[in-house]
Amino acid sequence: MKVLVIGGGIGGLTTALSLHAAGIEVAVFEQVPRIEALGVGINLQPNAVRELIELGLSDDLKAVAIETSTLTYYNRFGQPIWSEPRGLAAGYAWPQYSIDRGDLNMILLTAAASRIGAHNIHAGHKLVAFKQADGGVVAQFVDRATGRTLPSQRGDVLVGADGIHSAVRAQLYPDEGAPVSSGRIQWRGVIEAEPFLDGRTHVTIGSRDSRAVIYPMSEAARRQGRSLINWVTVLGRQMASDQPGTWDRTASKDRFFARFKDWNFDWIPFADLIARTKEIFEYPKDDRNPLPRWSVGRVTLLGDAAHPMRPIGSQAGSQAVVDARVLALALATAPTIADGLKAYERERLPLMNNVILRNREFGPSIIMDMAQERAPSGFTDIEEVIPRRELEEIAHSFKVTAGFDPETLNKRASYDVPPYLRYGGRSHASGNP
Ligand SMILES: Cc1cc2nc3c(=O)[nH]c(=O)nc-3n(C[C@H](O)[C@H](O)[C@H](O)COP(=O)(O)OP(=O)(O)OC[C@H]3O[C@@H](n4cnc5c(N)ncnc54)[C@H](O)[C@@H]3O)c2cc1C
Repeated sequence: MKVLVIGGGIGGLTTALSLHAAGIEVAVFEQVPRIEALGVGINLQPNAVRELIELGLSDDLKAVAIETSTLTYYNRFGQPIWSEPRGLAAGYAWPQYSIDRGDLNMILLTAAASRIGAHNIHAGHKLVAFKQADGGVVAQFVDRATGRTLPSQRGDVLVGADGIHSAVRAQLYPDEGAPVSSGRIQWRGVIEAEPFLDGRTHVTIGSRDSRAVIYPMSEAARRQGRSLINWVTVLGRQMASDQPGTWDRTASKDRFFARFKDWNFDWIPFADLIARTKEIFEYPKDDRNPLPRWSVGRVTLLGDAAHPMRPIGSQAGSQAVVDARVLALALATAPTIADGLKAYERERLPLMNNVILRNREFGPSIIMDMAQERAPSGFTDIEEVIPRRELEEIAHSFKVTAGFDPETLNKRASYDVPPYLRYGGRSHASGNP
């Protein structure tokens, strides 16, 4: 069986590694001429870290990523609403990492190139269409820079891991149109600074319409007593963008700074950090409506192409990693390709559709709105505003919805494909759909 993976982002590269580990031949096609990523942060939840460790990437991650100790929510006066341990400290068998996206992409790309062969990672290949016929799928590409048509590629399965503006999804759902706008924009930047709190804490401040997410993401900086801090600010509806989202659009801090200019707290000088940041990127917080199906014939969707979600609860990258592992196991062990794609979809689609909807309701961050509504001028005792039991329940129920509560994750069997089931070794692995 040969799988064509469209997109060389976190989802696509993890799919390549997972398929290779399952004994399945794979090639990746990425539209940009060089696979690299912006040096901004991303969080890997324990469910994704488990998969990456099982793919043999533990040492690479540990060398560069911050092991997140704590997640704390604050109101806009810098008063703590809720704090919880994360990763190992929360009882998971795997850590949570905050990592520079560039480092993560490089770890995945290096591993993929050495395992599947660099010649199977085709940069500069933009998928424009695919055709399913004669027991296979044929993908058509152009060189994005020149518009030149490139040779078509044939495979047994095609996986659309091509992000929120997925060409694969657009061909499966031609009437869907543009992403659904939340009317909100996020601005992001990175700055080296003094560590805040314990140097390993992820914080979220404010409420839905003026919010900041801040975390350190570099183990190298931490070892030198510094922090490489990733920050994100989000403003409310009046800031709606009329431009489609690309992750690398730079912006001026004039667009948002006024709302955060007083956010210097005794535990973090956040306004000063924004003021010192040189390069700022802007992106609309869009998603898409849940789909009834991801798989049609020999084609399926994965990661943001399948379930783009609003960036709440640090889920999107982690869920793409889990998708990849579930898909590889399903394709390696099901009697036919069609059965494998169905099994993948059965396991992942309902869960991800729930997360899309829950994130439209602000996911676990809803406690920030509750604190803002109930105590708009701040509080002295959070217990009088939101009882602890309610806070615990909201935090726990989001983890259950997103499939990464510690009890379930620690007990679940591995998605590793046992050697005797690896694809090439089975007589019934016919490649028939
Ligand atoms: C540069 C960048 C920065 C991001 N920053 C954030 C962030 O700050 N917060 C957040 O929540 N999420 C962010 N995301 C999204 C987040 O990374 C994804 O939600 C998550 O990692 C799932 O990844 P994915 O592989 O499914 O999609 P993506 O990471 O979007 O990767 C899709 C890949 O497919 C490629 N591609 C697209 N169309 C085609 C085509 N027709 N043919 C071939 N290749 C194609 C793209 O170039 C891209 O490399 C970012 C994504 C990118 C690419």
